[in-house]
Amino acid sequence: MTDKEIIDRIQYLKKEKNAVILAHYYTRPEIQDIADYLGDSLGLSQEVAKTDADIIVFCGVHFMAETAAIISPNKKVLIPARFAGCSLAESITGYDLREWKKANPAGVVVSYVNTTAEVKAWTDICCTSANALQVVESIPSDKKILFVPDKNLGAWIMKKTGREMELWAGDCCVHERITTEMVLEKSKEYPDADILIHPESNCSHDDRILNLPQAYMYSTAGMVKHAAKSPKKQFIIATELGTIHKLQKDSPNKEFILIYPQTICGQMKKVTLQNTLEALEKEQYVVEIAEDIREKALKPIERMLEIC
Ligand code: SF4
Repeated sequence: MTDKEIIDRIQYLKKEKNAVILAHYYTRPEIQDIADYLGDSLGLSQEVAKTDADIIVFCGVHFMAETAAIISPNKKVLIPARFAGCSLAESITGYDLREWKKANPAGVVVSYVNTTAEVKAWTDICCTSANALQVVESIPSDKKILFVPDKNLGAWIMKKTGREMELWAGDCCVHERITTEMVLEKSKEYPDADILIHPESNCSHDDRILNLPQAYMYSTAGMVKHAAKSPKKQFIIATELGTIHKLQKDSPNKEFILIYPQTICGQMKKVTLQNTLEALEKEQYVVEIAEDIREKALKPIERMLEIC
């Protein structure tokens, strides 16, 4: 089948089965283009909570589809790329977190949404890169915070809020490669460009970056908004490659310079037109979560959605 035939068949099946396609900004351009909703982790969670579709085809990695299944137990959540994982989500297990909590019984656990359902089940409140500052600031200042699993996002929050937190030592294998030196070098090459940096990046909490007047720390959706509104013509993008597709589509007359050519999430790229079609045709692969874990994992997500 040609790509056009696959897309036509996907559109037909979507209507027939009352399905919706949600895709993350880091998926391939052709997946972004067929999505009913394109977003980052926060936007996608909010969309899942709103949709009245019977089937959600989640074009992203496993923890994201799991989050959709936690929020929408009465819908069928399908993940086209069954083995699309995430280095960050895999850096901590439910057992690890339970043991950490035992050692810190008074600690409040804030989990980045990039975690498994099991980890969310041991979490007090979730956050995303878009709302992490708000979530941490909502916790009384006398409480100790245990932050999992991204050490870079955690260190950036500490810098911005002045709040001490214990950090789990996980990282995203893509954003961990984005260093201060890379950003400084690119900013010399493009002195008029705004620099849009994801807080999971290795450089996000370095004062040399935080003090750069043209550097902004954003979730992926924040970058998209900033670039569309800004009068600037050039932007250095310090996040995953897939974001450039949306940025360029929204602002065709602006230039987007990727910080480093290897900022590619191979897991996100496992989602293809072919496996998205197969997901809809065969209603595979259904994301399933034990009900006791799902109920516990839902609470920290709801707490997050209540405050943002
Ligand atoms: S970009 Fe990083 S955090 Fe996002 S899915 Fe890939 S490995 Fe996980």
